[in-house]
Amino acid sequence: MAYIKINRSNLIHNLSQIVLKTGSVDKIAIVLKDNAYGHGVDKIAKIARNFGITKAVVRNYTEAKEIEELFDDVIVLGGNIIPSPKLSYAVNSIEKLELCPERTRIELKVDTGMHRNGIKPNELQIAIGMIKDKNINLVGVMSHFASADELGSGYFYQYKNFQNIKKIINECGFDNVRFHIHNSAGILRTKEFKEDLVRLGIGAYGYNPMDNAFEKVELKPVMSLYAKKVSSRMLLAGERVGYGGEFTAPKDMIVSTYDLGYGDGWRRGDVKQPYITPSGKEILGRVSMDFITLEGDEEEVCIMEDANIAAKHFGTISYEITCALHANIHRVIVD
Ligand SMILES: *Cc1c(COP(=O)(O)O)cnc(C)c1O
Repeated sequence: MAYIKINRSNLIHNLSQIVLKTGSVDKIAIVLKDNAYGHGVDKIAKIARNFGITKAVVRNYTEAKEIEELFDDVIVLGGNIIPSPKLSYAVNSIEKLELCPERTRIELKVDTGMHRNGIKPNELQIAIGMIKDKNINLVGVMSHFASADELGSGYFYQYKNFQNIKKIINECGFDNVRFHIHNSAGILRTKEFKEDLVRLGIGAYGYNPMDNAFEKVELKPVMSLYAKKVSSRMLLAGERVGYGGEFTAPKDMIVSTYDLGYGDGWRRGDVKQPYITPSGKEILGRVSMDFITLEGDEEEVCIMEDANIAAKHFGTISYEITCALHANIHRVIVD
């Protein structure tokens, strides 16, 4: 069966690089949403916990329940609000705030310029009034950068807006609220980190999303993907492979079928621009639902060891490549 290796040392390397930025492991909330970006949430959560991380970020209540016992503090980004002692819910709108039961622990999200989620800064006073009236537990105030990975003013504009919001919150008498706006790109470009938390996603998994103009912290991909041989055959020159016969053997050659396909979340791609594995093997012809064909007859082949390279090939981002790999592919931890 195709499987994924999770490299523990690389994950620890990446987390250590971020601790150098934050100054403390307590300031890292590891983002475990969507099966830990496809890496396997159970395995990543355990390694992060053993490293000393006590805070996590997930997509919804169901994901929170899967990892809750390993962490002290879990930020839930969306879905239904079900109050629970360790969970705090991102609240994205005044309407959502109205629906919060009394004493819900929340992270109030403020839109500082991404315009995807969060209340508008001019709704802050209304929100604060509601929080006080309804006796809601304001644990944190958060925002999200739209383009921290790019050179340009967007990052500074949002950061400045966030500092104003902080001031207002503090002036309203909340002195025990944590503030967080940094994602991986935000922390990777920061020289002096002054916030309470970073919500660390892609950087933990080994991808540095920064524009090349920045001084780059070296991160190491945590995931690598392997497929196993199903069968081999000798192709004679001129014989064709797979659906549509899109690959024609230029010479007599041995080819093998491997047990990975788009049914596993691997990209089907464009047969005219074949993907090439790290050892230089071209995927021959079309990707099937459960199979690909490669030259040679090795028992096992590494299909991908750096999702950024695959992402460039398929015209997407590392996030999408790793997230797409199905949860039922077996994951093993290696050092
Ligand atoms: C996914 C997510 C993050 C993590 O972003 P990365 O770019 O992967 O570090 C942080 N905050 C929020 C609100 C998110 O949805």
